Amino acid sequence: MNIARVIVDVPTSQTNRPFDYKIPDSLIGVVAPGMRVIIPFGPRKIMGFVLEVTDQTSFTRLKKIQDVMDLTPVLTHELIQLGRWISETTLCFYVSAYQAMLPQLLKAKYEKELWLLAEHEDLTEDLERLFGGRGVVPYEEIEASSLSYSQIQKRIHEGLVEVHYKVKGKETKKKETYIVPGIPSHRLEEIYHDTPKQAKKQRLILAFFIEYPDEILQKKLLEELKTTRASLKPLLDKEILKTVYKEVYRDPYQQREYERTTPFPLTEEQQEAIEPVLASIEDKRHVPFLLHGVTGSGKTEVYLQSIQQVLDDGREAIVLVPEIALTPQMVERFKGRFGSRVAVLHSALSAGEKFDEWRKIQRKEVQVVVGARSAIFAPFENIGIIIIDEEHESSYKQEDYPRYHARDVAIERGKYHHCPVVLGSATPTLESFARAQKDVYKLLTLKKRMNNASMPEVELVDMRKELHAGNRSMFSIQLREKIEDRIQKGEQVVLFLNRRGYSTFVMCRDCGEVKECPHCDIALTYHRKAERLKCHYCSHEEPMPTICPSCESDTIRYFGTGTQKVEESLNQLIPDARIIRMDVDTTRRKGAHERLLTKFADKEADILLGTQMIAKGLDFGNVTLVGVLAADSLLHLPDFRSSEKTFQLLTQVSGRAGRHTLPGEVIVQSYTPEHYSIEMASQYDFESFYKKEMKMRKTFRYPPYYFLTLLTVSHPNHLYTMDVTQKIVQFLRDHLSDQAIILGPTPSPLTRIKDRYRYQCMIKYRNEPTLHKVMNRLFQIYEDAIQQKDLQLTIDFQPYQLM
Ligand code: ADP
Ligand code: ZN
Ligand code: ZN
Repeated sequence: MNIARVIVDVPTSQTNRPFDYKIPDSLIGVVAPGMRVIIPFGPRKIMGFVLEVTDQTSFTRLKKIQDVMDLTPVLTHELIQLGRWISETTLCFYVSAYQAMLPQLLKAKYEKELWLLAEHEDLTEDLERLFGGRGVVPYEEIEASSLSYSQIQKRIHEGLVEVHYKVKGKETKKKETYIVPGIPSHRLEEIYHDTPKQAKKQRLILAFFIEYPDEILQKKLLEELKTTRASLKPLLDKEILKTVYKEVYRDPYQQREYERTTPFPLTEEQQEAIEPVLASIEDKRHVPFLLHGVTGSGKTEVYLQSIQQVLDDGREAIVLVPEIALTPQMVERFKGRFGSRVAVLHSALSAGEKFDEWRKIQRKEVQVVVGARSAIFAPFENIGIIIIDEEHESSYKQEDYPRYHARDVAIERGKYHHCPVVLGSATPTLESFARAQKDVYKLLTLKKRMNNASMPEVELVDMRKELHAGNRSMFSIQLREKIEDRIQKGEQVVLFLNRRGYSTFVMCRDCGEVKECPHCDIALTYHRKAERLKCHYCSHEEPMPTICPSCESDTIRYFGTGTQKVEESLNQLIPDARIIRMDVDTTRRKGAHERLLTKFADKEADILLGTQMIAKGLDFGNVTLVGVLAADSLLHLPDFRSSEKTFQLLTQVSGRAGRHTLPGEVIVQSYTPEHYSIEMASQYDFESFYKKEMKMRKTFRYPPYYFLTLLTVSHPNHLYTMDVTQKIVQFLRDHLSDQAIILGPTPSPLTRIKDRYRYQCMIKYRNEPTLHKVMNRLFQIYEDAIQQKDLQLTIDFQPYQLM
């Protein structure tokens, strides 16, 4: 077995296949599938993923693997297969799919070190020579030493040493000293009896370990027994006790103590919903479920008890939660039930923290992972359930290359592991609900809220009428009065403002000129603090102009409403209201998000004002009023899902009110309250909305009736971009079936981003078995232009962002 099939880190069409390399004698038995290796490729030395180790090759002269980057594989057998599937279904290069599965730290520039875990006295001679009294040695020293990789690998297996990755310039890992007995308990007892009574401290220490023969932090031991290192030393010298060094994980959640929770007895509805899930866990059957339950109907409890069964069965669970819903409250629910068996993967963690969490999974130190999209690649090998909460969230679709959807990956992994996949939501996507109607997904329904609480009453306010009545503020009379009423009662209010379509742009009242980004074709956003205009797509910024650049009028000023502006006018309207504002600006700093929410939970404010990030996952008992300031701001995006998104968002936001004993109320302000998605959301009528929206989708031939593929062409030259797109459209017309609807070429809604022009072509189709082939062919045709002329071609088989 001296041949390795390797995917090389050169993302081009020609190199998108395994290459055979010879494994040098020194690495035979060391190199294994799923490891990263260094290989010569042309004149360079690059990284590659080993897919397979074999003794067959059809080539006679092979280059040799130069070195290994890992001594423990970073990809499991399953993930190697999964990467291939992602590559083939999303049309990305193999190497990009594998990179996407790994934590960032493994992609960054890093140095490696070998860490000693055992006492020096316990070391084999070879290791002792290598370490020479040190606890850590740079990895390069292994290469210079007489030790082979297979010897090191053996020592890793024995638990004597460990490889550590250290990001260049970043802090190294913390190690802590633990003390463990070096001899069996009965020997400890003998020694205890033989120790003279005067040696009080030593007897105390011995007695401690007779009672608790486990390892303990040295610091803690000394504290607990009120003694010093000096009294430990003789016991260590005689090897009655031993020192071990353990890495301290950078776990931001570990600091906190989580109160343990116990399972609730399930309600009848929950019981009915969970039974088929438990049955499929038990039978090791892959079943995709759609759990449709209104907010507060106890979905999370169903997840928790399903996971419990999986753990009891010795298997593992993956729970995906949208990034913005991955709040401390959410984490607490899982940590509270399963304690240190839970790893959390959150984008707010540093690369090092993420890597630590990932490694806990890799080493099987945890059995549950709760995380955002990329947690779907958790390297578990014995998965018993995969849960996707808020399955309708578009953040489950990766919008960067590779453009995978976590839901599809979950189902693929569920098939491999023969386990259920539970998609949960109060407002499922039309795609998922349609699949449930056809029994492709098994539908589970929770209709009632816990404690028979009803969904809060929603009142629609027509802002046009307010305007005609002379109210020019962004608060209707009703909303204002209700806010005042709640403050007086000591209850709390959540105010929601949609970020998109409601930004603070600068407009001249005289001539209508809007300040736009010179590179991106979108309005610049006014930032009051810095008195500057910023582009939200690229990093362009400029000072706020004092006169209009077009007509020189001095009536140029910001327009529209941002959270800052709302906060100001709220301050004027109700001066004694205490407000917490949550948006990208106030939550940029690490931990700010949690701090603000804690403040609100502690009732240090009356009003929580925020964007999308407050729409989900929050659960405050004292909130009795939710206000939506401009419900229709989402409705007019250039996106066929805008009605669906509006419905989902309004339902989510309303769910924030009256979650406990106090009844809740919702006020939705809108300029088009008669629109069906606003009206039906106010009645929580998902099924009517589903029917109505499905009709629209059918009429206009959109998903789920039709598949959609979006092809975007981008290049710095405008004419060239148009020309290429035109040719591609023609090529598609020639090669796809007559049933395929090919739209375009059209300029993308954001026609220019970072000095590149963007044109697109949309394909609607029901059945195009050759589509992937045709697209691959396109990439081949344009390979040279992509490599050499800075052309970009992106293909999205399941577009969510149509900008
Ligand atoms: P969802 O996830 O559907 O929004 P949750 O699981 O958060 O709903 O449940 C809402 C509330 O009801 C939570 O506070 C939860 O602890 C509580 N709860 C859930 N199931 C039960 C049960 N069977 N008995 C009592 N309380 C429950
Ligand atoms: Zn002007
Ligand atoms: Zn820009």
